[in-house]
Amino acid sequence: MRLPFPYRDEPAIVRRNVDAAAAVLDWPQVIETARPWVAAVRENPPPFWAMESLLKEYPISKPEGLALMRLAEALLRVPDSATAIALTADQLGRASFDGNSDGANSSALGRLSNSVIALSKKTLPDTDQPPGLFAKLGAKTVVAATLRAVQLLARQFVLGQTIEDALSEARSQRRSEPHLRFSFDMLGEGARTMDDADRYFASYQHAIRMLAQAHAAATDAGPADTEGISIKLSALHPRYEDAQRERVLAELVPRVWQLCEMAANARINLTIDAEEVDRLELSLDVFEALLQRVQTGYPTWTGFGLALQAYQTRSLELIEHVGALARQYGVRLMCRLVKGAYWDSEIKRAQEMGLPAYPVFTHKHHSDSSYLACAASLLKQKDAFFPQFATHNAGTIAAIVQMAKRFDAPFELQRLHGMGSGVYRELFASRAIAPTQTLRVYAPVGSHEDLLAYLVRRLLENGANSSFVHQLADDAVPAEELLASPLHVTEARPFPLPRDILAPRRNSDGVDLTVATMRAPLLAALATTQINPPADATSEQASAAVQRAHAAFHDWRNRPVSERAAMLRHTADALQAELPRFCALLVTEAFKTWGDAVAEVREAIDFLRYYADEAERVCAPITLPGPTGESNVLYPRGRGAWLCISPWNFPLAIFMGQVAAALVTGNTVVAKPAEQTPVVALEAVKLLHTSGIPTDVLQTVTGLGETVGATLVAHAQVAGVVFTGSTQVAKIIQRSLAAKDGPIVPLIAETGGINAMLVDSTALPEHVADAVVQSAFRSAGQRCSALRLLCVHEEIADHVVTMLRGAMNELVVGDTASLATDVGPLIDQEAFDGIRAHVERLGGHPAGAALPRPDSGLSDGRGGAAPTTWVIDRDSHTIGPHLFEVDSIAAVKQEIFGPVLQVVRWSGDPAAVIEQINALGFGLTLGIQTRIDSRADALARQAHVGNVYINRNIIGAVVGVQPFGGEGLSGTGPKAGGPFYLPRFLGEQTITINTVAAGGNVTLMTA
Ligand SMILES: Cc1cc2nc3c(=O)[nH]c(=O)nc-3n(C[C@H](O)[C@H](O)[C@H](O)COP(=O)(O)OP(=O)(O)OC[C@H]3O[C@@H](n4cnc5c(N)ncnc54)[C@H](O)[C@@H]3O)c2cc1C
Repeated sequence: MRLPFPYRDEPAIVRRNVDAAAAVLDWPQVIETARPWVAAVRENPPPFWAMESLLKEYPISKPEGLALMRLAEALLRVPDSATAIALTADQLGRASFDGNSDGANSSALGRLSNSVIALSKKTLPDTDQPPGLFAKLGAKTVVAATLRAVQLLARQFVLGQTIEDALSEARSQRRSEPHLRFSFDMLGEGARTMDDADRYFASYQHAIRMLAQAHAAATDAGPADTEGISIKLSALHPRYEDAQRERVLAELVPRVWQLCEMAANARINLTIDAEEVDRLELSLDVFEALLQRVQTGYPTWTGFGLALQAYQTRSLELIEHVGALARQYGVRLMCRLVKGAYWDSEIKRAQEMGLPAYPVFTHKHHSDSSYLACAASLLKQKDAFFPQFATHNAGTIAAIVQMAKRFDAPFELQRLHGMGSGVYRELFASRAIAPTQTLRVYAPVGSHEDLLAYLVRRLLENGANSSFVHQLADDAVPAEELLASPLHVTEARPFPLPRDILAPRRNSDGVDLTVATMRAPLLAALATTQINPPADATSEQASAAVQRAHAAFHDWRNRPVSERAAMLRHTADALQAELPRFCALLVTEAFKTWGDAVAEVREAIDFLRYYADEAERVCAPITLPGPTGESNVLYPRGRGAWLCISPWNFPLAIFMGQVAAALVTGNTVVAKPAEQTPVVALEAVKLLHTSGIPTDVLQTVTGLGETVGATLVAHAQVAGVVFTGSTQVAKIIQRSLAAKDGPIVPLIAETGGINAMLVDSTALPEHVADAVVQSAFRSAGQRCSALRLLCVHEEIADHVVTMLRGAMNELVVGDTASLATDVGPLIDQEAFDGIRAHVERLGGHPAGAALPRPDSGLSDGRGGAAPTTWVIDRDSHTIGPHLFEVDSIAAVKQEIFGPVLQVVRWSGDPAAVIEQINALGFGLTLGIQTRIDSRADALARQAHVGNVYINRNIIGAVVGVQPFGGEGLSGTGPKAGGPFYLPRFLGEQTITINTVAAGGNVTLMTA
């Protein structure tokens, strides 16, 4: 059995879940059971309440709460005190803590500080700073106190910094609460490098060894499977993703199996955590491979299991699937049912990718009802599962208890360390549950720095208005509301589907390549795709095309804009329908990876729809004011025949964007695609023609820039030129236009850049590595927006560069027809030779030699240090990702249009870094990685750059969302995909009519 399609109609699934749960639940009874727990917890809150109160006073929806969360996310990892002070001052200052930099007199900060201190006093016996000192000691003290507050928050959620400490804490807790069990979680971000994965693996091994030893030694440890470990597969492999399936199965399965064997031998339990939805199918394959081995190797081990997320719309089928596996392999599984911890990021991913629906429910009570339906299913399948219910919600717990009785099924309850203790205290004190019932605590172990991502998820969970824990702490929420039945289908507030988030414009539909049925049409299209490049046009043909376009102009410009816009919209729909074929063309002709190909087709569709809407806005006549007896109307009109010269790196999106903009504004077009990629352009033109654009209005002329392109530019009847390509060619075009007699011809040029990313020491190295790898090496660095220059704060540079090198080593370089490939070939021999020359210059290596895989050490020298990477293949024009450290920003003289990144270290004032970046003269994209909001804001304003991206990658601008284009050497503007683009294609005509010329001023006289 395979899982169903993940992006399905939500209401139908909710109806099914509600019916399934309602059939086995008496909800009024649930309320009766849980209401006293709620009252008792509110009456007698557990110590954790202090943090809850803090979050209540400073909710994360308010600046103060957000500041607290931001500080919690970043402050503990900042190595240098100057940056720590800047971060603290920024966050406390911006959150209307009255803007006082030392903060001492600010009432809000005072209150926060008081809460912090009060909190410290409760939990930290060694607290030595009474609140009064704040006023006297200034910024450093405030930072120290804030650090303390954050550490305090962190402590709420970590059982111990080492497994040894955690075990001892667990033992001590079990003395007073013998029903407690533990599952330890070794904290950390997902692995980006093999070194990371090795480290996590060693820490899991060590933890299991310690658990085994503790059991062997202790007399009060309880039965062997009292303890357990939870593992994250993403921590154990740097490329734990569907596209790397074969490698993951070959490398990850044996590794996890080693942990399983250790756990099975020690008879402790091991649970695989549930992670993002796009890894679900892969994790099931890993799980099944392990299950096979458990069946043969450890058939009596009952501690193997996995977590399943009820917020997934496929959760019920998932349980069926896993149950079938358990029966197939004869292994009864521990199955932890959670609602799911990544709700916000799943929603964002679906929106960004333009998916047909969400893979998770969009309303909290839908996740709740799904949880109940899943719980019933688990409890019914006693032969397959030992269910473990992980929740802090009193209503959910009471419902589980009721259902378990009904099905007479054994089960376990689970909660996170630092959460839910009050409700469970009341549950165990009540008669609702057997005294022998166990409660397992998920216990994170690790240093505070490793906690940060986990901490933020917990703060979000506790701070979310819809969260049970949050509402429980709020006395204003009546118990009836808190325990309201989730067993209904109504939606108070419809949630927009990904296709509607840009409403009224329709968002383009994307493809989730991890879903077999979605990628199949693309792969099928590839099998039938052939590229037959056309012959180059002659100069005569090129000139004739301009003449025809010129002749067709008058009629075309007088067509209503609504007709022209309708043709664009029709083309968009046709392109959407043909997305697989166009993706296959892009993979074949332009060596795009599949992910890049999908993104490019979507961008082209978005351009068509966006410019259609924009044209109707900007081409509408404008009635102007004036004296009575006169009408004045301004008519925006096309200018004439435009020449659209597009590059090979976005042969569909940029081509389509230029052409659509010119056409819809009433211009005729002669399009000259890049000589490397004419076929995809010709196919795009066919779609435009089929959608009603006359053949004389849009013509394609193929051939070399130097010959055909030059002829076209020089033609007297060209009324405007839009060009995307190198600065050098833009200048040639500009000179050629200037040299012509006749009218002055407008030029829109979008050129390249030495795009930089500034990283300060508040940034999270893992996120920086992700952003850099995507920005510098996707599309083999052949994007004008690609990252060329990474400027890292010296305090974290070693760590970031090491991680980057490790992540680069994990990239797959090769043929983009394979879904696994990350970095494809360069576009042609000329490009290959150029990049190779740069690599040799920067690295001092002999021509064409295959460079050794780097070890994990840093390059020793600056300015020509050893490159990171490995592949240079003449035959396939492939060059793997390269990284070089250089002395200074000024040393980076030119754009290297390939997978080559230069890194420079900085210290001191980040404004000086931006100054040097500005001095390079380019101004296309800039990345800023900092958690200091005011710094990001100031640096963005200081930068002379068209597109600034903060705390993310710097590529993939979305039409109408991130209008794209630069300044200085990077282009003339206006920005493509922005509101000022189309007017540049327009001429204007004002028509003034003397309305009193015949018959006098009737309007005035009859008013
Ligand atoms: C022992 C244990 C192990 C865990 N392991 C994992 C794991 O492996 N993987 C994992 O992802 N999580 C895991 N979690 C975290 C878990 O997902 C959250 O703690 C849990 O969702 C909180 O649910 P609740 O019933 O306690 O609270 P409630 O407040 O009742 O529910 C909150 C949950 O509802 C869902 N939700 C919130 N808003 C919406 C909305 N608008 N639409 C739809 N759904 C919404 C989210 O899942 C949110 O977390 C684990 C938790 C525990 C206790």
